[in-house]
Amino acid sequence: MRKTPPFEPHALLESKVMTVSATSVSPEVLDRYEPVIGLEVHVQLLTNTKAFCGCANQFGGEPNTHICPTCLGLPGALPVLNQRAVEFAVLAATAIHCEVREHSVFARKNYFYPDSPKGYQISQFDKPLAEHGWIDVPAVDSSGQTVTKRIGITRLHMEEDAGKSMHDGFPDSATKTYVDLNRCGTPLIEIVSEPDLRTPDEAYEYLTRLKEILLYTGVSDCNMEEGSLRCDANVSVRPRGQKQFGTKAEVKNVNSFRFIRSALEYEIERQVELIESGGRVTQETRLWNANEGRTYSMRSKEQAHDYRYFPEPDLPPLLVSGAWRAILAARMPELPEARRKRMIAEYEITMQDAQTLTATRGFADQFETAAKRAKSPRRVANLILSELMGRLKAKGLDLQQSPITLEGLVQAADLAESGEISSKQLKGLFDTAFENGEDFGAVYEREKPQQISDPGALDKLIQEVMAANPKQLEQYRAGKKTVAAFFVGQVMRVSKGQANPALLNELVTKLLDS
Ligand code: ADP
Ligand code: ZN
Ligand code: MG
Repeated sequence: MRKTPPFEPHALLESKVMTVSATSVSPEVLDRYEPVIGLEVHVQLLTNTKAFCGCANQFGGEPNTHICPTCLGLPGALPVLNQRAVEFAVLAATAIHCEVREHSVFARKNYFYPDSPKGYQISQFDKPLAEHGWIDVPAVDSSGQTVTKRIGITRLHMEEDAGKSMHDGFPDSATKTYVDLNRCGTPLIEIVSEPDLRTPDEAYEYLTRLKEILLYTGVSDCNMEEGSLRCDANVSVRPRGQKQFGTKAEVKNVNSFRFIRSALEYEIERQVELIESGGRVTQETRLWNANEGRTYSMRSKEQAHDYRYFPEPDLPPLLVSGAWRAILAARMPELPEARRKRMIAEYEITMQDAQTLTATRGFADQFETAAKRAKSPRRVANLILSELMGRLKAKGLDLQQSPITLEGLVQAADLAESGEISSKQLKGLFDTAFENGEDFGAVYEREKPQQISDPGALDKLIQEVMAANPKQLEQYRAGKKTVAAFFVGQVMRVSKGQANPALLNELVTKLLDS
């Protein structure tokens, strides 16, 4: 599908501005109406060269420098399909559980626009590469419970991108539009969802999951600012209980997931208001205006393009054999959802913690490689979650900017695990590392925290604490063994965190039981 045309000024006059806060749909509207949402996502593939020629597939660059007769559609130039693009498309399709068609067919989608000199886009129509997939997303059911909801994927097909029209930034922009054709012929996949989404939040979750899967498979950088991932949102509303879908509007020109949520919220309120004031939703394409937080009508169904699809005569049907599919499937990395499930079990962490550790595949890989070297991988995970993330957040840093490296974390975890430093000392070392921007190892070598490892000295401290807390002692001796932790804590406190934790634990139990 092509990029959105520029704003058409007449469209601005068409509908009155609504004063809807673009934060969320009122619950009272949702009591009466059910939104239905389906998303069409375009993703640029990370190939070195374009889909049908050898030009560099690269964002930016001096305008009109990555072009050739094929991507310009000059007469006589023939397209040759990029094998890598097919591999990426099959990998993505497999990751979202689609069935990959053995024979798919490229088609010409005809339309005229200045950023597409061929006058058509090579796409796929009635025989797309892949169909019938799904993605699981977290959703909230009618009783307010978080549940897993399966969102159907209608199809995933291959196509090429168009060039870019540039309307601003030139001295004569008022009268001229410039065209950069570098993007022409960039390989894309389009992923079309079933109309299974029911709230803007579900749409947001779906996009988040989809993007994560695409990033994990490495088929795209999914950079929305650079247009590597673009989403058109289809939305309609129907009275609760009605089986038939309402008429949908398609919202284009939305360049962040947050804006897609806002655009959907706006659209749902607009459609309900329209219906309740006796009007009818018309099938149309609307543009999101982020500055105003609203959508505008761009073209109605009557003005919709007739693309006159027909099979692309210059490309043979695409054959993806079972053998090739198997080779590609073997390249599939562990996907985020499966990885989180495994990590929850392996490191005994919560779903939310697993989410943090798998935020990017790069970090998750680094973390797991490092954690494997530690005495207790679980302790490394917990250090990140309980000590590192909070300090990073307070300093406004992300994981990549952490002064404490994964190496440092492993060292810290091992020292804590063997009882050479107490958790209080560890916290102190972390604080210093963050203040000075030093790694853990450097701070530890310099400060080598004092530790009381002399059993006699510890015994003395424990006996003092026992004498000062007769009530707890009585509880312990009456069978409440968990009170031991209280005594450990107290000794830690009076020793200013310097008691050797492993030895302390041992001695506390011994003295309490004696
Ligand atoms: P079109 O022919 O207008 O392109 P499609 O049937 O191909 O429509 O669907 C395009 C997208 O719109 C899909 O993601 C689909 O799930 C979604 N969709 C279809 N009908 C509706 C509807 N009534 N309300 C919301 N979304 C819809
Ligand atoms: Zn080219
Ligand atoms: Mg369609």
